[in-house]
Amino acid sequence: MSDLAVGSSDKVVVECARSPDHSALFERHTSCVGSAKLPEWPEENSAAMARGRIVLKTLAMDSTRFTSGDLCGLLLELFKEAGLPEELSLSSVKRLILAVREHMYDNPYHNFFHAFDVFQTTYVLATTTFTMERLDAWERFALLAAARCHDLEHPGVDKGFVESAALEYAFRDKLLEKHHALRAFEIMKDSEIGVFQGISTASYYAFRQAVSGCIIATCPANHSEFAANLATLTGEGGVATKQFEMELLLRAADLSHVIKPFPVATPYTPHTTPYAPHPTPYTLHPTTFTLHPTP
Ligand SMILES: [Zn+2]
Repeated sequence: MSDLAVGSSDKVVVECARSPDHSALFERHTSCVGSAKLPEWPEENSAAMARGRIVLKTLAMDSTRFTSGDLCGLLLELFKEAGLPEELSLSSVKRLILAVREHMYDNPYHNFFHAFDVFQTTYVLATTTFTMERLDAWERFALLAAARCHDLEHPGVDKGFVESAALEYAFRDKLLEKHHALRAFEIMKDSEIGVFQGISTASYYAFRQAVSGCIIATCPANHSEFAANLATLTGEGGVATKQFEMELLLRAADLSHVIKPFPVATPYTPHTTPYAPHPTPYTLHPTTFTLHPTP
């Protein structure tokens, strides 16, 4: 089913032969990426940036029509638009954008372009629902950082495949979303990236809890419980906490193709096809749109 080879003490190479179209070779580096190893900030393509700005705050944005360099520039624009915490420097945000790009694998679907897509959609949903206005600067950054990192180092297979192929040892946690969150903090805490310089301990832990909660909320296995909590909240006329609101927005953005213009949503469809050989443990209920274990 798969071949595993340990290349060196700090590097694990995993070959997945799960389908002819996706015999991917991916590497997982256990060390963090510091700025010394990061590429230069991409040179701005003014024509692409102008084209991107037209649709950047709308659901008509199609990340597949831009280079990853263009998308780095557009990511920075949205971070700035959201209003960054005053303790956070623009150069740290740039290094974070580059570091996360380095840690997104070349998967058919869970790749850098999907990460941009979810980040940008989260921004659009958070502004059009006025959630962004209710969040303070660190909470806004937490929501966007979570969106940016929500599939960090995604192996292109699901939790079931990771377990069946005995790949758990290659991840920080067998729940992939926990791995994404833990690696996000290892990168953000890297002194060369410098996200947390000047932040208080209390603010750091609040930020960490907010980001981790948002990323773990994207786990498909929690969908029924999440939908039930939302139904209870709306049925009883309750007030959502800011954390629940942030988790809801990121979760919605991660599944947002159904609310996008057809030409924007369709390019992603063929990229999910190679995932088909793995029987999903969940089935989408046709009327409630909740996930249930496949009988
Ligand atoms: Zn995702």
